[in-house]
Amino acid sequence: MIRPDLLLHPTPKGLYCPPGDFYIDPVRGAVDRAVITHGHADHARAGHGAVLATPETLAIMAVRYGETFTARRQSLAYGERLDINGVTIWLAPAGHILGSAQIVVEWRGLRMVAAGDYKRRPDPTCQGFEVVPDTHVFITEATFGLPVFQHPDDRGEIARLLDSLALFPDRTHLVGAYSLGKAQRVIRLLREAGWDRPIYIHGALDRLCTLYETEGVALGPLAPATLPGRHSGPVELFRGEIVIGPPSAFTDKWGQRFPDPLFAFASGWMGVRQRARQRGVELPLILSDHADWTELTATITDVSPEEVWITYGREDALVRWAELQGRKARPLRLVGYEEEGE
Ligand SMILES: [Zn+2]
Repeated sequence: MIRPDLLLHPTPKGLYCPPGDFYIDPVRGAVDRAVITHGHADHARAGHGAVLATPETLAIMAVRYGETFTARRQSLAYGERLDINGVTIWLAPAGHILGSAQIVVEWRGLRMVAAGDYKRRPDPTCQGFEVVPDTHVFITEATFGLPVFQHPDDRGEIARLLDSLALFPDRTHLVGAYSLGKAQRVIRLLREAGWDRPIYIHGALDRLCTLYETEGVALGPLAPATLPGRHSGPVELFRGEIVIGPPSAFTDKWGQRFPDPLFAFASGWMGVRQRARQRGVELPLILSDHADWTELTATITDVSPEEVWITYGREDALVRWAELQGRKARPLRLVGYEEEGE
């Protein structure tokens, strides 16, 4: 078997494949050829010569950066194979957000899988993670790579939001959620829990929600969370309603203009009480698009690779755990991917 390093290895710009001459999720500067796992800003940047990704990820990048985000796009559906200079590449669902993909790279009998960001629990807004069998090297993130990180059931968290609305029917429930992926998932989970009233969204979510709808994720009635007049007082219309926006929107004056606002925040980090307090979150909702400790370790067990490479996050505990399981493990300590960003 050839050395995995010859097929993929970490560089300051991101994971690089010398025989295929492409980068996976390049973080620093433009490259000639990029393969992108998903549309979050720290992974999908504008300006590369060519971008290979799922059709959904390409559509997300076009919405966020404009149609000229790259000189050349190449879309690859899940499971479709492509040959680049003798390297076979294909994509498998990662379950992180709409269009998110694991990058499978094969060369001279060696199969490596760069999972990107992923989670294992079902998400009604995207295809579920698929285990790629016969993987020699599995490349995983470790955002929540400590045993203390155990995300609760999504539906339970949404039920807590609905309970709060029942308890405080006069308060505007402002839900902070990252505009790509998390916001649409919260909306969809609310619909599945029976909330059929209009959901008010911040302008930053508008085009991405439309894109999700176009891609077949029904979000129900959405309305703009627009307050008439710059200096007008609280608007009664929003009492007892749900307003969703990027978390930053609610920490500035925008959020305070809603009547009796109650600030909720949907994030995996809300499991850390101190973070919720620091941000002034009254109702922390633990909803993550990343694997928790149980999902990370279960995934390594399911994929059962000979080697585990860990890109970023809390690498040390996962390295130790993998070694105890008799696998080679290597922290890559890639920098430039934001743990809090999305
Ligand atoms: Zn992500």
